Amino acid sequence: MLCKEAAKGAVYKLNEEVYIRSVERRGLWLVALCYVRSQSRREECYQVVLKLKLGTRYFTGRCECPDFRYRGGPCKHIVRAKVALREYLKAATSLRRLL
Ligand SMILES: [Zn+2]
Repeated sequence: MLCKEAAKGAVYKLNEEVYIRSVERRGLWLVALCYVRSQSRREECYQVVLKLKLGTRYFTGRCECPDFRYRGGPCKHIVRAKVALREYLKAATSLRRLL
């Protein structure tokens, strides 16, 4: 997806590199739909789905980049999406405190 399209519906963005489209709770999991800018094709964003187990540090994710498809393991986009999600949750927590 083009990053400018991903940016439109974003609930949170980090440094124009990561866009979080949605975060929702599914049972014991927090599921975040993110788009992370490609290093080689700067207009393009890869879709990353991140799952975080609530109350633990355990997370899993998948990314549509060639690196992830080839290796099947966490790529740098997943790592970046996780950083952005952590920032988003921090911001959301301080918002809740204000309300
Ligand atoms: Zn990736």
